[in-house]
Amino acid sequence: MSSDDAPRRPHAVLIPQPAQGHVTPMLHLAKALHAKGFHITYVNSEYNHRRLLRSRGPDSLAGADGFCFEAVPDGLPPSDNDDVTQDIAALCLSTTEHSAAPFRDLLARLNARPGSRAPAVSCVIADGVMSFAQRVAEEMGILALVFWTTSACGFMGYLHFAELIRRGYVPLKDESDLTNGYLDTAIDWIPGMPGMRLKDIPSFIRTTDRDDVMLNFDGGEAQNARKARGVILNTYDALEQGVVDALRREFPRVYTVGPLAAFANAARGGELDAIGGNLWKEDTSCLRWLDTQRPGSVVYVNFGSITVMTPAQLTEFAWGLAGCGRPFLWIIRPDLVSGENAMLPEEFVTDTKEGGVLASWCPQELVLSHPSVGLFLTHCGWNSTLESICSGVPMLCWPFFAEQPTNCRYVCAKWGIGMEIDSDVRREEVARLVREAMDDESGKARRVKAMVWKEKAKEAVEEGGSSRKNLDRLVEFLLAGNDDFQAESA
Ligand code: UDP
Repeated sequence: MSSDDAPRRPHAVLIPQPAQGHVTPMLHLAKALHAKGFHITYVNSEYNHRRLLRSRGPDSLAGADGFCFEAVPDGLPPSDNDDVTQDIAALCLSTTEHSAAPFRDLLARLNARPGSRAPAVSCVIADGVMSFAQRVAEEMGILALVFWTTSACGFMGYLHFAELIRRGYVPLKDESDLTNGYLDTAIDWIPGMPGMRLKDIPSFIRTTDRDDVMLNFDGGEAQNARKARGVILNTYDALEQGVVDALRREFPRVYTVGPLAAFANAARGGELDAIGGNLWKEDTSCLRWLDTQRPGSVVYVNFGSITVMTPAQLTEFAWGLAGCGRPFLWIIRPDLVSGENAMLPEEFVTDTKEGGVLASWCPQELVLSHPSVGLFLTHCGWNSTLESICSGVPMLCWPFFAEQPTNCRYVCAKWGIGMEIDSDVRREEVARLVREAMDDESGKARRVKAMVWKEKAKEAVEEGGSSRKNLDRLVEFLLAGNDDFQAESA
C-alpha cells in the first residue's frame, strides 16, 4: 500500500494550562486518545518543558511512537527561581497575549510536513483557560474543542460570573463583605446547582474590583467555551448529574469522560508508561512506609501544586496533626509557604518522628489507593477530589481558591464524603475533625458513601458506562466532526 492509500491517522494537538504544577488530566486525555489510535502532539509551555526535563530526566520528553512533545513560550520574563508555580494572573494574561502566535506557527509547522512522522493536524484540544489556542485553530480551519479540567459545578460557577455581576452580587461593595456574612447569601438560581451560597462560587468573585484580572479572565474564558465545538469535562454523569444535565441544555456537545485516569491507566504497559506530568520529583519511599501502617489508619495531607499558606497556618496544621493521634503522611512542597521555605517547628519534627512522614511530592494516585490511607486532608483541587473519590477515601477540606470552595461544597453537602476546616485554621479543630472523621459514627457513614461514589466511578468507565460511551462519542466526533468542519469551512 503506498503512503497515499494508507488510512489517515487522526492527529490531536493538546495544550494544557501551564499554571498547575502537574498536567495530569490533559495528559490522561492524551493517553486515552493515543490508545484510540490518535497521533498526539502535546504542547507544554517552555517553562514547564524545562521543569519536566529537570524533574523527570532528559529523556522524559522524548515521546514515543505517535506521541510527541512540543513547547511554546508563555511570554513571561525569566524568573529567579525556575522551579516554582508561576503567578497565575500574570500567566493567564501573558499566555493569552503571547502564546497565540507561536502556537499558530507550531500548527503551521506540523501541517507543513505531514507524512510518516506526523499526519496533518485534525483537531486541537485546548484547556478551557487557553482559549487562544481554540481561536487560532478555528482561524486555521482546524476543529477545536475545550477541555475544562475543573469539576462540572466549578465550570458552571465560572459560567455564571457574568450573571452574578449583572445581578449586582459582584463585585463586593467593600472588604467587610468578606467577613460580615454577605458570602452566606443564597445563590439558588444557577441551573442544576441548588443550595449554593455566594461563598461556594469560585473564589475569584471575592473582589471589590470590577476590573479584577481573574474575575474577568475566568469569567471570559468560560464564555469562550460557547464558541468551541465541544466541551470536555473530567467528571462522570452520576456524580454531577444535575449540573451536567443543565450544561447539556446549554451546550450542544458536552463530553463527560471522567475519571480520565482510568482510561489512561488502562492503556498501561506500553511505551507511554514513562510519560508523566508532575513538575516535582516524586518521592516513592512514602509508599513503603504506608506498607507498614494499619489499613485505613493514615491521614494523608496534600494541598496540591498551587496552594500557598502563611507560616502561622502551617504551624496550626502541624500541631493539629501532631495532636490528632493518627499516623500521617504530609506532603510539603518547597514553595507551600508564601514568601519563604516551608519551616516546621523543630519540636514538631522531633515529636512526630514516629507517627508522621514528610515528603515534598509523591505519586498521589498510588498514595490514595493505598489501603493504609483512611482520610485525605486536601485543598479540594478537582484532580485531588476526583482521585480521592476514585479511591473511596473521605476528605477533610481546606479549600484555598478558584473553584475549590465549590468542590468542597459538593464533597461535604452533596456527596456526603467530607467535612470542611475553617479557612482560619486552628490546631484544635484539625485534631478534632481528624478524630471525628476516623472514629465517629458520622465518619463511618462518610466512609460508606465514599465507597459508593468509588463504585459509581468504576461503573462509569466500564463497558456500557457513561464516561466510556462519552469517550467513544468524543472520538467519533473528532473523526467525523473534523470532516464536517472542513466541509463547512471550505
Ligand atoms: N499530585 C501529585 N503529587 C503530589 C501532589 C499532587 O501527584 O504530591 C497530583 C495529584 O495527583 C493531582 C494534581 O497533582 O492529580 C493536583 O491537582 P489538583 O487539581 O488537585 O490541584 P492543583 O495542583 O491544581 O491546585
